[in-house]
Amino acid sequence: MTGRMPILRRRIRGLTPPGSPGQCLLQVVPMTTIADITHFLSELAPLTLAESWDNVGLLIGDTARPVDRILTCLTVTPDVVAEAVALRVDLIVSHHPMLFKPIQRLVASDPQGSMLLSLIGAGIALYSPHTAFDSASAGINQQLAERFGLLGVHPLRIKPNPVTSGSPLLEGASGAGRYGDLPQPCTLDELCESTKQQLNIASLQRVGSPAATIRRLGIACGAAAEFIPDALAAGCDALLTGEARFHDCLRARDSGLALILPGHYATERPAVETLADILQSHFADLTVSASVQEHDPVEIV
Ligand SMILES: [Zn+2]
Repeated sequence: MTGRMPILRRRIRGLTPPGSPGQCLLQVVPMTTIADITHFLSELAPLTLAESWDNVGLLIGDTARPVDRILTCLTVTPDVVAEAVALRVDLIVSHHPMLFKPIQRLVASDPQGSMLLSLIGAGIALYSPHTAFDSASAGINQQLAERFGLLGVHPLRIKPNPVTSGSPLLEGASGAGRYGDLPQPCTLDELCESTKQQLNIASLQRVGSPAATIRRLGIACGAAAEFIPDALAAGCDALLTGEARFHDCLRARDSGLALILPGHYATERPAVETLADILQSHFADLTVSASVQEHDPVEIV
């Protein structure tokens, strides 16, 4: 208990009852607050799973404020801010955080300052789960592992899940990255084609021989070539991560580990849409949607 009085609102639950002319049937029900949403999100993606360098949780907002509309996105950009203001949303759930570095002035002439001023001016709160959502038992990497039908899925780096509420959302192992065996061994070339279909993209980058046999696949969304040693230790034939630097590509190739690089956006954006569905199904009275204005800043030309 917080000691705070619950925010109440009136909702019309039915038509005028027969025999009661002019008397509406009103029912006072508790209103969903930012605190309700952050509590749910912190169970879905416990913040203790976040990396130590990360900046996760409620970054802007008042937990006591009511919520009617939520927008999810991968990253807060000027397009997303404009969309959120136009839709009059109360809360943005952005996978990537803002405010990574301390700021000393908040001015509109700075791109980040302009977005922050717009959000605060419009009364829009911001929550970012980031690496907690990457690693959660129903998080991005687990979702990717399920898209590929991996068998015997385990985290590449195990972290205990501190929440044991019995929710089906929280079943399974938590930790950074995932690995597992493909339902059928295939060539790297075939797995790349399958990846394009699964992530709905036209092209990707690849490191390794197209004819190499892939039995065990490692997965680490975003920019996560740091998991190359973990994938090798887990016996993976390939690691799927969003993007990797040139020297990491050389390191993987020289170690005999294939890389599948569909792009940072392609590995993480689908989970933002899934997150909107999860929130909508849990908070049926609210309106939840994924941003339709954000898009991958990297174009293939
Ligand atoms: Zn990312």
